[in-house]
Amino acid sequence: MESESILQIVLAGPLRTAFDYLPPARSDLKPVPGCRFKVPFGRGSRIGLLIAVSPDSSLPYKDLKRALRQLDPTPLLAPKDLHLLRWAADYYQHPLGDVIFHALPVNLRKERDQQTSRNDGYRITVTGQATDPKTLLRAPRQRAVLQCLEGHHQGVGTRQLLEETSASPGVLRSLVEKGWIEACPTGTVAAPSHLPQALPHALNPQQQQAVDEVAEHLGQFQPFLLNGVTGSGKTEVYLHLVEAALQAGRQVLVLVPEIGLTPQLLQRFRLRLGDRVLALHSGLADGERERVWQTLRMARQPVLIGTRSAIFCPLPRLGLIIVDEEHDLSFKQQEGFRYSARDLSLVRARQDDCPVVLGSATPSLESLRNAQEGRYRLLRLAHRAAQSTLPKLQLLDIRNLRLSHGLSPVMIRELQQTLANGEQAMVFLNRRGYAPMLTCHACGWLTDCPRCDARMTHHRQKHLLWCHHCGHQQQVPDQCPECGSPELRPMGQGTERLEERLNELFPDTPLARIDRDTTRRKGSLEQMLTDIRSGRYPLLLGTQMLAKGHHFPRVTLVAILDVDQGLFGADFRAGERMAQLILQVAGRAGRAERPGKVLIQTRHPDHPLMQVLIRRGYDAFAEEALAERRLAQLPPFTHQVLIRAEANDPRHPEGFLNQVLESSPTPNAQTGIEFWGPVPAPMERRAGKTRAHLLVQSQQRSELHQWLKALLGHIDQLPLSRRVRWSLDVDPQEMF
Ligand code: ADP
Ligand code: ZN
Ligand code: ZN
Repeated sequence: MESESILQIVLAGPLRTAFDYLPPARSDLKPVPGCRFKVPFGRGSRIGLLIAVSPDSSLPYKDLKRALRQLDPTPLLAPKDLHLLRWAADYYQHPLGDVIFHALPVNLRKERDQQTSRNDGYRITVTGQATDPKTLLRAPRQRAVLQCLEGHHQGVGTRQLLEETSASPGVLRSLVEKGWIEACPTGTVAAPSHLPQALPHALNPQQQQAVDEVAEHLGQFQPFLLNGVTGSGKTEVYLHLVEAALQAGRQVLVLVPEIGLTPQLLQRFRLRLGDRVLALHSGLADGERERVWQTLRMARQPVLIGTRSAIFCPLPRLGLIIVDEEHDLSFKQQEGFRYSARDLSLVRARQDDCPVVLGSATPSLESLRNAQEGRYRLLRLAHRAAQSTLPKLQLLDIRNLRLSHGLSPVMIRELQQTLANGEQAMVFLNRRGYAPMLTCHACGWLTDCPRCDARMTHHRQKHLLWCHHCGHQQQVPDQCPECGSPELRPMGQGTERLEERLNELFPDTPLARIDRDTTRRKGSLEQMLTDIRSGRYPLLLGTQMLAKGHHFPRVTLVAILDVDQGLFGADFRAGERMAQLILQVAGRAGRAERPGKVLIQTRHPDHPLMQVLIRRGYDAFAEEALAERRLAQLPPFTHQVLIRAEANDPRHPEGFLNQVLESSPTPNAQTGIEFWGPVPAPMERRAGKTRAHLLVQSQQRSELHQWLKALLGHIDQLPLSRRVRWSLDVDPQEMF
C-alpha cells in the first residue's frame, strides 16, 4: 500500500502550493502529468491538474486523500507546455494553478469529462503519429486501429472504427493508455474552408534578406527584431517565413495585438495559406475556442494567429514564432496574471529551439536595446514596399490660435483641399465621447466621478456622464448641482463632438467615425473598414482604433489633434508611447501611389523629443530616449516590480506597503535594490478604493527575484495583508 505513487495536483485559483493526493480508486487510466483530476477539497470537490507524480509525500499517508477521478485519459498539456507555464508562474510570481487554468480553454476549466462528453469517436495523437508501426507487429488489431485513424484528423466514429478494424473496445482502451489515440467528438472542423487564392509578391532585396536570415535559423533558437517602417512589407515577410516553416513540417505561432481591430491581417493569412490558419481570440465562443485549441494541440493544423493568451496554446511541432507590432501594450495582461506574451515568446522559442521574430515600425525601447546588445539580430526594412513613399510629418503650432472645436484654421484648410482633390482624410483624436467633462459656467463645478479621481466624460447622444475608469454612469443634470445654474458647458473635445463639428464644416461629405462607441456591435467595425476601403467615406475620424495597421490606400492626409499630454505624462514611458502612436497613425497616410501628409497640432513645437521625432525619425528618437533612460537608470537599463495595494480604508494601502518595506532586508550596495515609495497611485482613488504603489527596482533581475521570493514567503503574515488587496506586477508597463 505504502508504495502507491503520490499525485501532485494544482488547483485553479490563488493557491500557491500543489496538493498531494492518492490516485483514484479503481482507475484503469495512467496518471500522467498534464491530465486533469477531480479531487476532494474542503467540503466539496475541485478540478486540478496533475503536475508531477512522486514516490512519496511530506504528509503522513493517513492524511492523504484520494483523487476522485481522472478526467483526461491522455495529458492535455505536454511536458514542454507545463514547463513554460511553470516558468511563467515563477517569473511573474503568480500562483501556478491560476496560470495553468488561465492557459486552458474555459470549457476545460470546468468539470467535464473529456472521455464521455460528446466524444463519439477516436483520433490519433501526436505520439501515436510518431510511433513506428513495426513495434506493433505482434498487435495487429492495434496497428489496424492506428492505420485506420491515420490521416483522419477529425477522428473516426467509434462504431465505424470497431467495424472497420474488427478491434474490441479493449484494444482501443490499451491504445488510449499508451497515449497513442484519444477519444474525441467527431466531425469537428475548426477552420472555415478557404482555399489559398493570393499569390505571394516577389520580395524586394531587403525583404528577401530578412526572410533568408530567419529561414537559415529554422531549427535553432534565435531572436530577430524586424524593424520596418509602416508599409514596408513586414506582413509579406511573415507570410514567406510561415511558408518556409510549413515546408519544414513545423507549426507557426503568430501573435497579434487585437484581431478584432485588424481583420485584414487574418484575411491576408487566410488568402495565402487557406484553412491551415486557425485563429484564437476573444471573439470566439467557448466551444469554438476549445476545438481550435484541441486541433492545434494535436498538431492537426499548422498555423495559429492569436492574441496574447495564444502564447500558451500547445503546439507540439512549433518551429517559428512571430510577434507583430511587438511594441503594442496589449501583449501585457494588466489584470490578475500580469504576464507579457511578447516576453514569454522568447522563453518559448528558446525552449523549442526555434527563431522568434519581433516586428514593428516603432519597436519598444526594450527590444531596441536587446538588438543593440546583440541579443537580437536586427533586420531592417527602410523603405515602403509598393509604389509609395513615407509621408511627411509636419508640426502645426497652435499656441496663439483660436481653435474651432479643436481644429486650427490651417488644419481646416488642409482638410478642405484634400477632400476637394477627391482624396481621403483621416482625423485622429484619442478621446471618445462628446467632451472630457462638463463644467458650470457660473461656479466652475466639474463633473467629477464620485468614485475616482477623474472626470466623467460627457456622452451626448446617450445623455450620460460616464467615467471611463470605473464605468460609473449617471444622467446629465439639467442644472449645476452646486449653484443651480442651468449653464452647463462641455469642455474640450471628444470624437462625438468633433464629428458634429466636421459635419458642419463638410455637410456634403460622408464621415465615418470609428471608436469604441460606434463599433460596439459585432461585425460593425469590419463593415466600416470595408466601406472605408471602398472609398464610401472621404472623411475618417477616430481614436487609436484607427491607428492599428490598417491599409487604407486612398488616405493622403492624416490630421493628429492633441497628443501633447504624452510629452509631460507622469509615466516615464509617456514619450515613447506618444512617438509610437504618432508614427502608427501617420503610417496610415500615402500607402498607395499618391504621397501622404501628416499634420500634428501641438502647443509645444519646440519640445526636443517632438523635434527629433519629426526631423530625424523614430530611430533617432529612440536613440535619445534610450540615452535619457540610461541616465535616469530606468528600464530597460534596470528592472522593476510594482506592488499595488488598494482598500476601502484610505490608511491601509500605504500602511501595508510600509510593512512590506519594513519587513524587507535593508537595501545595501550588494543587493542594489531600490525602493521608491510607498506613494499614492497616480489616480489615488478609483472605483471607491484608495490605491498606493511601491516600486522596487534593481539593476540585477536575479536580485529582484530573490527579494520577491523572500517577500512572498512572509507577505501573508504582515498585519495589514488581509485588509488590502495587493498585487505584484513584474516588468510593469503602466503605472496607473
Ligand atoms: P507592413 O506590414 O510593413 O505595414 P505590408 O506587408 O502590409 O507592410 O505591405 C504594404 C503594402 O505593400 C501591401 O499592400 C502589400 O501588398 C505591398 N507589398 C508588400 N511587399 C511587396 C513587394 N515585395 N512588392 C510589391 N508590393 C508589396
Ligand atoms: Zn455651478
Ligand atoms: Zn470613476
